Amino acid sequence: KHAIGIDIGGTKIATGIVDAYGQVGPYQMIPTDTTASPMAVINEIEDIIKELLTEGDYSPKDILGIGVCAPGPLEARQGRITCPPNLPKWKDIPIVNLLQERLSTPVILENDANAAALAEKWIGAAQDSEHFIYLTISTGIGAGLFLHGRLVTGARGNAGEVGHMVIDPTQGICRCGQRGCLEWLASGTAISRMASEVMNRDLTAEDVFVLYRQGHEQIVPLIDQVFTYIGMGCVNLINLFDPEKIVIGGGVSQAGQPLFDAVRNYVHRYALNPSGRKTEIVPAQLKQHVGLIGAAALIFHHRE
Ligand code: ADP
Ligand code: ZN
Repeated sequence: KHAIGIDIGGTKIATGIVDAYGQVGPYQMIPTDTTASPMAVINEIEDIIKELLTEGDYSPKDILGIGVCAPGPLEARQGRITCPPNLPKWKDIPIVNLLQERLSTPVILENDANAAALAEKWIGAAQDSEHFIYLTISTGIGAGLFLHGRLVTGARGNAGEVGHMVIDPTQGICRCGQRGCLEWLASGTAISRMASEVMNRDLTAEDVFVLYRQGHEQIVPLIDQVFTYIGMGCVNLINLFDPEKIVIGGGVSQAGQPLFDAVRNYVHRYALNPSGRKTEIVPAQLKQHVGLIGAAALIFHHRE
C-alpha cells in the first residue's frame, strides 16, 4: 500500500508516492507560482498525481489516501488553507474537499512543521521518542509538538507557532506585530537582515555563515547572539513541555556543529543542570523529502 504526499511550500511544491516504510517513489517538484490562482495550481497538482500513478503503474486501490502539508495558519480539521503569509493568494482554499472530489480518495491536511515532526518520528531522528519537539529554523521558525505519542495540534491545527514566542521585547517589530519574537531574531530571514545591516550589503544566511566560519569580527558575535536566542527558545520549550528531544531542522540548522554546540551549552546551563532533565538537542535526519514523507505519514499514522 502507498500514500500520496503533497508538500506545498512558499518556494516549491513537491508531490510524490510514498510506501509504507516511508520510502519516496516517483515524485515531481515544481516551483511555487505565487502569482497563479490556487485553482490553477491545484489543477496542476492533480495532473502530476495522475502522471505519477501512470508512471509507477499504480492502480487507484494501491493508494490509501493523500496527505497534504502547507504553511500555517490553516484549518486542519476543515481542510482549508486559510491565510499563509508565504502563499498570499491562498485565502480560504478548501484543498481537502477539492482533492477528495477530484481524486476520490481520503485527504488529510496538516501544517508543515507538524508533518515534518511526523516524518522524523517515522523514519528520522525521533523514532525512539514519544515526547519530542521538531523545531524548524528556516525562512521563518515553527515547531511540531509530538507529546504522549501523538501530535498536539490545538483547536485548529496551529499549535506550535513557536516563532512568535517573545524573546526580547526591546527589539524590532515582527510580522505578527509583537516586538522581539524568536523568528524576528533567529530565522534565516533575521540572520540575513541583521548581517546585511551590519555589513552594509545584501547577504543571505548562507553568506553570513561563510563569514562566521572565517571568524569575521562583526559576524561572529552576531551569530553567537543568534545561537543564544535559539537556546532561549529551546529552554522555553523544555520548561513548557519537558520533551526527551528537540529535533532541529530547516535551512539554518545546516550551520551544523557550532549551532548545536552553542544551543546544547545554553540548554545545559539553564534547563538541564538546574533540574536534572536530560533533553537532547539533535539535528533532523530527513532533508530533501521531509515534507513529502510527513504528508504521507498523515495517511499512515495520523490518529485523531
Ligand atoms: P523554507 O523556509 O522555504 O522551508 P529552508 O528550510 O531551506 O526553506 O530555509 C531557508 C533559509 O535557510 C534561508 O534563510 C536560507 O538562507 C537559510 N539557509 C539555507 N541553507 C543554509 C545553510 N547551509 N546555512 C545557513 N543558512 C542556510
Ligand atoms: Zn512574531
